[in-house]
Amino acid sequence: MKFSKYGQQFTQTSAISQLMDDLGDALKSPTPVNMLGGGNPARIDKVNEAYFEVYKSLEKGGIEGGAIESVGNYSNPQGDAKFIEALVAFFNRHYHWNLTTEHIVLTNGSQNAFFYLFNLFGGQFEDEKGNTTTKSILLPLAPEYIGYSDVHIDGKHFIAIKPEIEEVEHEGESGFFKYKIDFDALENLPALKNGEIGAICCSRPTNPTGNVLTDEEMAHLSQLAKQYDVPLIIDNAYGEPFPNIIYPDVNLNWDENTVLCFSLSKIGLPGARTGIIIAAPEVVKTVSAMNAVVNLAPTRFGAAITGPLLNDDSLKQLCDETIQPFYAAKAKLAIEHLKQQLGEYPVFIHKPEGAIFLWVWFKDLPISTTELYELLKQKATLIVPSEHFFPGLDISDYPHAHQCIRMSIAASDETLASGIKVIGEVVRSLYDAQ
Ligand code: PLP
Repeated sequence: MKFSKYGQQFTQTSAISQLMDDLGDALKSPTPVNMLGGGNPARIDKVNEAYFEVYKSLEKGGIEGGAIESVGNYSNPQGDAKFIEALVAFFNRHYHWNLTTEHIVLTNGSQNAFFYLFNLFGGQFEDEKGNTTTKSILLPLAPEYIGYSDVHIDGKHFIAIKPEIEEVEHEGESGFFKYKIDFDALENLPALKNGEIGAICCSRPTNPTGNVLTDEEMAHLSQLAKQYDVPLIIDNAYGEPFPNIIYPDVNLNWDENTVLCFSLSKIGLPGARTGIIIAAPEVVKTVSAMNAVVNLAPTRFGAAITGPLLNDDSLKQLCDETIQPFYAAKAKLAIEHLKQQLGEYPVFIHKPEGAIFLWVWFKDLPISTTELYELLKQKATLIVPSEHFFPGLDISDYPHAHQCIRMSIAASDETLASGIKVIGEVVRSLYDAQ
């Protein structure tokens, strides 16, 4: 069969689809695998109990009740109206953004939102005189989320800026670093000055690194976005108020030039496929129209489960008191194991500021982390090598991009211990053989 140019993009076995297959196989494997590779959130009993209680309460109305209603009727393309009202009230209660229902649209997961947004703000543009320009999405700091790659239908996808790397302490200990935006490089980027950027986008906290851009960095990005008349897209999949897997005391801001994206996945409902966009009404209207074409309507199950928990603020409480401390403890434990295994080696950890991963830098490792990935896979331990996290950058001459790994900390304590032990053994032997 003959596929279009766009279709052919999906027929090639990319490194990332191979990686995703490995992760899938690991879940089915009859022998235990140290699964530190995926992006699945942990299952936290107390959180799941809260969802189950709502689920049971939906049943109470029988066939006329919320359970069947949430799957028995389409919503309109903007998404479940009651849930959107609950979100408006929730955000206005906690953030005073003066939102109306015209500012929120739901999508089938935030991955779906990024497909829409990157094609809305990237690709070919035509001005009033009929002149065309191709615009890219600017990632002010790579490494960035692997899932952004390949969603574009058209045009040059991303332009990204290498990070500044700063050695920092974490809880009084050395051996950590933090990425910062290189604003010199950003402000002098020819594509930005020439009008070839359609939007600026960052995840905060960042997947894969757990970096949290500072309030100053965000204010600077917001000012640049306004200066160049492009939106600032903020991917808040791990940020406050839900799931609130973020540790520094920073602010979350929104204005009509900001497109703020949330997800219900990392609160433990990835299968509900619910993404939330807060944006100016013209963006909301257009994304709603995209929903109508691509999905008819977004799913309603996530709305049914979390709506009541938003209304009485118990979701916020679960995030603050259960989800955030759960991942903070996991990060601490994983760091202890890494320090035990590799404390004597030139191994640095990105300061854990949020999300569900640690980003580990094996400085001057004699092999690439893609090769390391293969060695670890042979020992039933899965991580994700760093080279996939630099969309929009040519990394052929950038050693740092080949020396890091992302490891999930959502695994059980036992898996974290045994996985990091294997990583320690393999990495030590590589450094020792030098
Ligand atoms: N953005 C970031 C930073 C992520 O890590 C993920 C998932 O891992 C997503 C977006 C997509 O999440 P979902 O489509 O499940 O809402």
